[in-house]
Amino acid sequence: MSPDANELQELVRELHRQGSPWVPCGLGSRLDWGPPLQDGLPLSCTRLRGIVDHNPGDFTISVRAGTPLLEVQAALAPHRQWLAVDQPWGSQRRGAGSLGGLVARGLAGGYRQRYLGIRDQLIGLSLLRADGTAARAGGRVVKNVAGYDLMRLFCGSWGSLGLITELSLRTLPLPPIRRGLVLQGSLTELGSLSQWLLGSSLSPERLDWWNAPLAAAAGLEAAPLLLIALASISAASLTQQQAAIAAQTPLPLRQLEAASLDQLLAHARGDDPIARGDELSAEPAWLLRLGFSPDRVTQALAAPELEGLAIELAAGSGLGLAWSLAAAGSGALEPERVRRLRQHCQRLGGWLQVLRQPQGSAVAAWEDAPSRSMIERLKRQFDPQLQLAPGRLPGVANPAARVRRSG
Ligand SMILES: Cc1cc2nc3c(=O)[nH]c(=O)nc-3n(C[C@H](O)[C@H](O)[C@H](O)COP(=O)(O)OP(=O)(O)OC[C@H]3O[C@@H](n4cnc5c(N)ncnc54)[C@H](O)[C@@H]3O)c2cc1C
Repeated sequence: MSPDANELQELVRELHRQGSPWVPCGLGSRLDWGPPLQDGLPLSCTRLRGIVDHNPGDFTISVRAGTPLLEVQAALAPHRQWLAVDQPWGSQRRGAGSLGGLVARGLAGGYRQRYLGIRDQLIGLSLLRADGTAARAGGRVVKNVAGYDLMRLFCGSWGSLGLITELSLRTLPLPPIRRGLVLQGSLTELGSLSQWLLGSSLSPERLDWWNAPLAAAAGLEAAPLLLIALASISAASLTQQQAAIAAQTPLPLRQLEAASLDQLLAHARGDDPIARGDELSAEPAWLLRLGFSPDRVTQALAAPELEGLAIELAAGSGLGLAWSLAAAGSGALEPERVRRLRQHCQRLGGWLQVLRQPQGSAVAAWEDAPSRSMIERLKRQFDPQLQLAPGRLPGVANPAARVRRSG
């Protein structure tokens, strides 16, 4: 189903009258990630596209939910503005997806270190509830709005609560000067630099951990790596920041200009700027989202369960992705090792989500959250007939199945 803005509300009302299952969908680029969908046709936002309003002076933009992230960045660039979010993992193969999908998954990458997450950049959203009722939360301008914070509830809702139709977000000035710094060494040496940096008055755009296999796949030494991205309005300030960092570590610092930094960032999201054609279709057998308590990241990265996986983690949040480079044979991941890895994450104050796994393997995408019963009550408030995204409810491992109407 791919309605335009005029057809949308009536279509959702009709689906509700019939009690039919359906799946809120952006551009369909990552609909297959996570728990398998049990039922329902995707309702695509492909035709709900375009910028509704950009106010450069106020640093705000409102877009329809199906607008591609890259289209928004391209429209902002002539104004020297941007949305301070990474492109998602696998963008070269799958596209970067829509703004609605981005908010529905609620995840940000390494830029969160300086710019916070997508939920902090969201200032308003419009949605359709399962019965077709239109609702709005927040506004189109940056201000406090009283009432329930539906925006944060919909960030990370995975299409389970309603269809996002429009979003308003903060924009930021594009930093005129950017630079990358790469350091490689032992986990201990890098860990002490990372801790110092996180507690310092410097504000890097990102501070990312890579493990040895990810570094080796980029043609670097097969050793743990810290990637620091600095941005400023003045070159002198960048040089000062770089000197302050160099003074804290005996490790050699490799400086990267913005274009080389962007190439490394593409590599870390599973994209290879040089790969073409068939090489692009290769997807990893496993794609895992990991979280650790940030003060335990070095301990976490040393675990034998992670051997052979490529890992990228943001140092400040402890959140990142791991994927298997080997689909089969030695180094390939077995479901049992993924379960052990989940326990390892939990022991270190974190969690593990399975986004992709090989056919035939059935590791739970996520486990029950402590707040499971509250999540289920919320689901019933928003979607009493359990029509939306059957099989997927964040924080609930096995969501209640929809009761089929007879006749
Ligand atoms: C740095 C970064 C890291 C990310 N990491 C992850 C990650 O680890 N795991 C992950 O799952 N995602 C992650 N994402 C989000 C992911 O990239 C987005 O899901 C994707 O960009 C959306 O693409 P799409 O428009 O094709 O959505 P789709 O693939 O069509 O849908 C994605 C999800 O969003 C829901 N959805 C889409 N549009 C709407 C809407 N309008 N209303 C309600 N629900 C909707 C769908 O039901 C589905 O669950 C990350 C994003 C960034 C920027």
